[in-house]
Amino acid sequence: MNLILLGPPGAGKGTQAKRLEEARGIAQISTGDMLRAEVKSGSEIGLRARAIMERGDLVPDEVITAMLAARVSRPDCAKGFILDGFPRTVPQAEALDGMLAEKGLRLDHVIELQVDDAALVERIAGRFTCASCGAGYHDTFKPTAQPGICDNCGGTEFTRRADDKAETVAARLDAYHRQTAPLLPYYAAQGKLSGVDGMAAMDQVAGAIGAILNGKA
Ligand code: AMP
Repeated sequence: MNLILLGPPGAGKGTQAKRLEEARGIAQISTGDMLRAEVKSGSEIGLRARAIMERGDLVPDEVITAMLAARVSRPDCAKGFILDGFPRTVPQAEALDGMLAEKGLRLDHVIELQVDDAALVERIAGRFTCASCGAGYHDTFKPTAQPGICDNCGGTEFTRRADDKAETVAARLDAYHRQTAPLLPYYAAQGKLSGVDGMAAMDQVAGAIGAILNGKA
């Protein structure tokens, strides 16, 4: 099964994609995570992307599309994939359609996580991640059970994304509305788009997504 999770930054795409990966054995592909790994490694792509990401702008389509094409060919995508953060522009969506057609694959569902902008800044600004295992937390909504200790692996080092600062979040939301929101009518016209209330509790959101994937929504 091949899916896209659409929605603004902070809508919960990453959280839901990880749950789907565990529950269904399909690969989560986060272009944001891939780019952060490139930045960390100091690769050519990383050097190009770093300043763009820190401003909250989008990395050029051709860089992202080439990266994605290589990724969906990896063996862990054999049972399918969940795209989280891709496509973000209509040209990226068109490139994806071409890529899938070439491989004889199809897109099964596009699920929009619907949230209001006012809530997003608060959600994003409090996010942090365990540096050892990648478990995600939030200062207000999901703190660690014991301060400074990861519930999952006991790690004591945590990281915050450089682009989760309030100033950058505004630019990221603006990029979403200008460049990514046009994908909603694009996928609605293909008959693939469903919406889920992303303001609901995490388990409820997961339930609503599950119902769509199981054809019960
Ligand atoms: P994310 O983790 O999905 O919020 O992505 C973080 C940043 O990476 C974005 O603000 C963009 O600068 C860049 N990025 C991630 N995915 C894409 C994409 N599909 N197209 C362009 N830029 C992207």
